[in-house]
Amino acid sequence: MKLNWHRLTVHTKYPFTIARPGASVDGTAVNRIIVELEHDGIVGRGEAAPSPFYNQSLDTVEATLRQVGPLLGDDPYQIGPIVDRLLARFDDQRATVAALDEALHDWVGQRLGVPVWRLLGLNGTDCPPTSMTVGIAELDLIARKTREAAGFHIIKVKVGTPNDEAVLATVRENAPAGCKVRVDANCGWSADEAVDRIQALRPFDLEMIEQPIPPHQYDALRRITQTVGLPIITDEDSCRPADVVKLAGIVTGINIKLSKCGGIRQAFDMIRLARNLGLQVMLGCMVETSVGISAIAQLAPLADYVDLDGHLLLADDPFTGPTLQDGVVAPPDRPGLGIGRA
Ligand SMILES: [Mg+2]
Repeated sequence: MKLNWHRLTVHTKYPFTIARPGASVDGTAVNRIIVELEHDGIVGRGEAAPSPFYNQSLDTVEATLRQVGPLLGDDPYQIGPIVDRLLARFDDQRATVAALDEALHDWVGQRLGVPVWRLLGLNGTDCPPTSMTVGIAELDLIARKTREAAGFHIIKVKVGTPNDEAVLATVRENAPAGCKVRVDANCGWSADEAVDRIQALRPFDLEMIEQPIPPHQYDALRRITQTVGLPIITDEDSCRPADVVKLAGIVTGINIKLSKCGGIRQAFDMIRLARNLGLQVMLGCMVETSVGISAIAQLAPLADYVDLDGHLLLADDPFTGPTLQDGVVAPPDRPGLGIGRA
């Protein structure tokens, strides 16, 4: 297999801000690496979306890619053993492993002439609607972003600032009637204040709360889940399959992202594990191009909650892939990941 990659800078339509430091978007600039695996005349693509929160950067992605050659072998069908070898050596660089896993799936699907969702035994036409994210911003911009999201059935609001109630009032004022509103605190509340902060937001009729507090505080998460009576979904707490076991019986569900877990194969494992442990499943993304979104969208039929809007936040996505119809982001009915050029 021949491995190539290149850096890519794309831009969000609006500056993108969340509650915690370490966001992977700097103002409007989004720096990603597109990986290409070539074998037998077919090129499979994947996207690395490194996050400073997980000690990853473009430099660590490239340093990893320079070392993976001997671990790839020469048979792209061997996705399982290849991903296992990559994770054994580069567990802290799972955004890079994810890009390679995506490229392998893309290659195999193209070679066999079937979409990846078919390879996985799924129905790609049966996906829940996605939320559209409204990041932290001044209230007039929040109002504008909310009105622009009118075609979506769910709005996801980034909270975790002292301004949360005013933000949600603005969203509710500008959102269509019947629109669901979910919130993501991105670890922005302390374990002591989280319950009170969530109760203060109850009048805004929330669908669920994502990652209220910083990770690894399992007793506090259990108490919050038992007290507030709303679904609590982890994100920063649910990175690897082993995390799923720790969260069973503590929270309502887990948000899975390819860049956190190491790709489609790991995500599929996490989904099955979560189901067997009685946890709900959300699929999420970083701000990324249609390459990365098309990869995770292959799994969307398995999700209770979908938050796959990363490519829709971009002003200059150079790729095509996922379809968007009536607020549903779905994988395309094309071989592999179905990626094209915009
Ligand atoms: Mg989140």
